[in-house]
Amino acid sequence: MLPAMKRVLILYTGGTVGMGKAPGQGYRPIPGFLEKLMRSIPMFQAPEVPAWEIRQYEPLLDSSDVGPREWTRIAEDIGAAHDDYDGFLVVHGTDTMAYTASALGFQLEGLDRPVLVTGSQIPLSETRNDAINNLLAALLLIGRFSHRLQEVCVFFDNLLLRGNRTTKIHTEGFSAFASPDFPPLGRVGIDFELDERLLRPRPDPARPLRVVPIDPGVTVGAFRLFPGLRPRFLEALLAPPVQGLVLECFGAGNAPRDPDLLAALRAATDRGVVVVAVPQPLHGRADLELYANGRALLEAGVVSGRDMTVEAALTKLFYLFSRGLEPAAVRRQVQLDLRGELSED
Ligand code: ASP
Repeated sequence: MLPAMKRVLILYTGGTVGMGKAPGQGYRPIPGFLEKLMRSIPMFQAPEVPAWEIRQYEPLLDSSDVGPREWTRIAEDIGAAHDDYDGFLVVHGTDTMAYTASALGFQLEGLDRPVLVTGSQIPLSETRNDAINNLLAALLLIGRFSHRLQEVCVFFDNLLLRGNRTTKIHTEGFSAFASPDFPPLGRVGIDFELDERLLRPRPDPARPLRVVPIDPGVTVGAFRLFPGLRPRFLEALLAPPVQGLVLECFGAGNAPRDPDLLAALRAATDRGVVVVAVPQPLHGRADLELYANGRALLEAGVVSGRDMTVEAALTKLFYLFSRGLEPAAVRRQVQLDLRGELSED
């Protein structure tokens, strides 16, 4: 007997990948266009490709317009269809793809099958494009590893990356994504390779998938420190109703030792604002104990986000506050490795 055909649900949210050019206008998403193109390309119908269906979002979005509401919609769609598919492919614009992939990773608690997020730099409608390989290889990866890959990943330019470790590094090159502090989970070349040692532990099969919606009331943000920052500016940034802030620090977690700046931070953390330090450099971790300036941040109540990307730290704050946790619990949990998003050692 032939093995049952794998089934994949494609959630098409928008982005360059499905855009077309209308005469006299630039690229724009055209409803129905992506599915029509995919149905017309024989490779997508090949027997080794899982059976796929497309659910197209209305309206199709530039990913700059994707935020917590859309993350929740995608997560809930996956939750509702979970048992009927072997995996999910989220087709998404590249600009905020790393945020969506990070958020979904937190929101889908106990995920036991692959959710891949992809898009492209050139639309599928162009003769020369990166869309065909990104979509096709993503479908094949889901089919092949549906029992082993149990997390949210970005798949782009032949790299399979842990979603919450990913950041966009190019606006133009095909290799638009990297996971700077974590090796790729897999690569597609002549063969499909998956590095089993890097995968997350299998979720408890007794616990069904649970989707955590993002509470629209949660107010968190991210801010890049810069030389010349006035304490008043930071004070205004941290004013109520702000609940959490990802602070992109200099180097390995440093900030100016300006007493007024530190007082602004201290006042906020005393009020329960969770301030998480991450490094501005692409590689490496925040170590707030290394320099006196970092230690001053610790004394002001800032916690280390270690090697989390900004995208992971920010979406983690959204997620933790959406679970209704008290600030002290958020402060504790944001420092823990929940989905492979940070290195604890
Ligand atoms: N602006 C587009 C988007 O993020 C870019 C892309 O898809 O590559 O939706």
